[in-house]
Amino acid sequence: MDEKIIDLTLYMNKFISGNVTPNATIRGELVKIQQITKRYSEKDYFFLKDICDPVKLYLSSKYPERFEPTIDTKKIFSIGNRIHGTMGKAIEKMDDFIDTEAILDGHLIGIPVRGRIDAETKNAIFEFKSKNELPVNPQEIIERYPQDVEQLGFYSFLDPIKRKENYLIFVSQDGKYTLRAFKLTTKSFKGIERELRNRVELLKKVFSEEEHPSVFFKCRYCKDDCSLKTDSLCELYKNKNPKCSIKDFVEITRDEIMEKYLNELIELKGFENLYSIFNIITSRKTLNKSINELELEPEELEVDESEKSKYMEKKKNKTYFEEIVYKAGLSISAKEYKNILKNNKIPEIYLKKSNFIKIGDKIYPTLIHSTPSIYSSSLRKPHSYKIGELSILSILTGFATGYILIYYPNISDEIRAFEVKFVFPNEPLREIKKIVEILKSKDISKINELPECPSFIHENDCKFKNICLEKENTTK
Ligand code: SF4
Repeated sequence: MDEKIIDLTLYMNKFISGNVTPNATIRGELVKIQQITKRYSEKDYFFLKDICDPVKLYLSSKYPERFEPTIDTKKIFSIGNRIHGTMGKAIEKMDDFIDTEAILDGHLIGIPVRGRIDAETKNAIFEFKSKNELPVNPQEIIERYPQDVEQLGFYSFLDPIKRKENYLIFVSQDGKYTLRAFKLTTKSFKGIERELRNRVELLKKVFSEEEHPSVFFKCRYCKDDCSLKTDSLCELYKNKNPKCSIKDFVEITRDEIMEKYLNELIELKGFENLYSIFNIITSRKTLNKSINELELEPEELEVDESEKSKYMEKKKNKTYFEEIVYKAGLSISAKEYKNILKNNKIPEIYLKKSNFIKIGDKIYPTLIHSTPSIYSSSLRKPHSYKIGELSILSILTGFATGYILIYYPNISDEIRAFEVKFVFPNEPLREIKKIVEILKSKDISKINELPECPSFIHENDCKFKNICLEKENTTK
């Protein structure tokens, strides 16, 4: 590095031009939408995926401690998250790509359910399922994974534009990304609607104890060693297996053309050398992780339970705020997003569609952020970390003005919008390129050439702290 950069985000703050200015127009537009956007709490709705295993949903709310995920289950979740990320990026390459992780909300049609679809194109919804063993034919899916069929079928009904041909993509968990793609064609939206409304009404009755949970037979994966069974707290294991309730309303066919297409898209990208801006800001951690991957516990295990619930709360707040920004009509189109990707100066750094907004006919790099802060002083200016992050996003995409939109759930639900202007010399882009090159080299001996991770990473007790310190000492 020409200059030893200690903290990348602080370094990137050097390129701000003038003051960080509050923008009353954008804030006002967001506040207007906020006033008509109800903040649903979990008590107000069912999560769509959960209602596809209704007995488990009910019993896990009654005996939450019995359904705590084990270390093995957490590892499977972590693998699943990685697979979802990779598959989402593959769908983004499709010409008619629209979005990943979009919310479908049943409240508009009077059904208290919300779901988050994995990815969507103009003509199809995609749901990814990571499995130990991949199903070989539709019959096997109906028998072994009925809840996956129900989930995608319910999405197809909740989808306001009623896309009829959607995809269940099964992906192997062994890291080889072996795929089986199945097309799920909706034959009767009415039939699915009936089942969904019925499911929700019955669930409400089960929760209010007007109905016995055995109306749903038993958990989808009822196991002999279930602790509720061995402690005689659940008798439902004696019931028959719950069947797929919508199998007559859909047709499932294997789609080998889609499999081939997805395989091409996955190979094309070289995902192992793709980094988020956060990976770049925490480059020491990223490098450590890339060479220690096999010995690592999944990310979810790094935080304790109270940290995890804070993290979940933050995620929910962010989702709510993203919804407001979306409803305010500030999102860019898939075509505009593709153009931005084409102009990305370091293609190894992954940019998200939600990192850009459109005001009139102008596009701006933007961070949509929710902060748990309780200090009113934080309403005045974004944290320098966020400004540094926006600065990286802006330099990558060649924009000189960007926005940081912030939601403060713990300060009376306030919203702020800040405009930041930058002037970039050549040097910062060069520095970021060097970081990427070191990360790609996976050469741990270069770790001290990288900036240090921001202090909150150490405060969160990064598991690589000792490795970083050790390397620092040996090079002194
Ligand atoms: S015994 Fe079966 S139905 Fe009952 S809680 Fe356990 S897994 Fe679910």
